[in-house]
Amino acid sequence: MRQRSGTFGVEVVTMTEHTRNTQDTRDGQNIRNARDTERNGNAGRIRRTGGHGSGTHDVVVVGGGAAGLSAALVLGRARRRTLVVDAGEPRNAPSSHMQGYLSRDGMAPAEFLAAGREEIARYGVELVRDRVTDVTRDGDGTRDGDFTVVLGAGRTVRARRLVVATGLKDELPAVPGVAERFGRDVLHCPFCHGWEVRDEPFGVLAAGPASVHQALMVSQWSKDVVLFLHTVAEEELSGQDLRRLAAAGVDVVPGEVAELLVEDDRLTGVRLADGSVHARSVLYVAPRPVPRTGLLERLGAEMDETPFGTYPVVDPTGLTTVPGVWAAGNAIGFAEQVVHAASGGYRAAAAIVGDLLMADLDAAVTG
Ligand SMILES: Cc1cc2nc3c(=O)[nH]c(=O)nc-3n(C[C@H](O)[C@H](O)[C@H](O)COP(=O)(O)OP(=O)(O)OC[C@H]3O[C@@H](n4cnc5c(N)ncnc54)[C@H](O)[C@@H]3O)c2cc1C
Repeated sequence: MRQRSGTFGVEVVTMTEHTRNTQDTRDGQNIRNARDTERNGNAGRIRRTGGHGSGTHDVVVVGGGAAGLSAALVLGRARRRTLVVDAGEPRNAPSSHMQGYLSRDGMAPAEFLAAGREEIARYGVELVRDRVTDVTRDGDGTRDGDFTVVLGAGRTVRARRLVVATGLKDELPAVPGVAERFGRDVLHCPFCHGWEVRDEPFGVLAAGPASVHQALMVSQWSKDVVLFLHTVAEEELSGQDLRRLAAAGVDVVPGEVAELLVEDDRLTGVRLADGSVHARSVLYVAPRPVPRTGLLERLGAEMDETPFGTYPVVDPTGLTTVPGVWAAGNAIGFAEQVVHAASGGYRAAAAIVGDLLMADLDAAVTG
């Protein structure tokens, strides 16, 4: 993976009492940090043993991308004691711009996340730059402190609920030059980078017969598209594939791609193993999505194998089959764009707020 210090080198926001007070005053909002609003002392009403001071977080959010930060924002605003643990490797870090998020179209991914981190800090959410290395579930996921979360730096925290928003990793084709140029002129998604390169000469590096679909899709953005079959045999394409490719004006070139050609830090073409050179300024590839779902698997979540990776089975709120554990963003599906990830985090958080409240009320009723 590309090192994030350049594109993601924004200071980690960890809320201190001072900054929290300053922020509260500056905003003029009626924001209290969760410690001030703790309702543990109100006997006979709601007892929140997971509140500030008990050492147990209401929620630990694993991953601080769009999904995790969005969940944290909603949880913080609902006065739930929330910790975000983020390893700082968001999927779109190789790209200098983020498209298709209404009102944020074209914003730098690092800027988007920095704004999110600033927003969650206003509500007393703690964010640490670390990696969760292990999670264990001690009970049935409905009691306080059921989850023990181990961080790489050695810290161990307890949580009543978990949000797993760990995203996925793109495993790129092993063609020299592809990894270096990914997110610049080697692209994977025309919705992310289509408009910006419209009408340029596109190549599509086939990874399987499904790459026909990618070649057809990108023809929406340029009429000059070449599908390089690479390791795919021509016979693997169906008659319908060939007819559609012809109708879209996509040229099909058999033969393995050996390397990318670059001049002045710009893609200029591809060289095939037979030595032939094809001038192209954009190459679409199909990375293999590798969801970061190890923690969920360790917790025993039911998983669903798909052609695009193995993802947890979730309900519409992102609740996995493990009680108390929600998931959102690319951790539940490869096609989750930033706006979907943010929305998924919101949905999960809202469900958790209700779930924790009902647990607290039930505990108050039973004493
Ligand atoms: C090159 C490229 C360009 C893209 N452009 C766009 C675009 O223009 N528009 C768009 O909508 N989408 C775009 N996408 C897709 C976008 O990246 C995803 O939709 C988005 O990142 C998903 O958000 P997420 O929160 O699920 O995951 P991520 O953003 O990947 O965040 C997951 C976070 O969890 C952290 N993490 C993982 N494991 C752990 C752990 N064990 N402990 C702690 N932290 C952990 C990671 O380090 C990371 O910071 C692009 C993708 C790529 C590859």
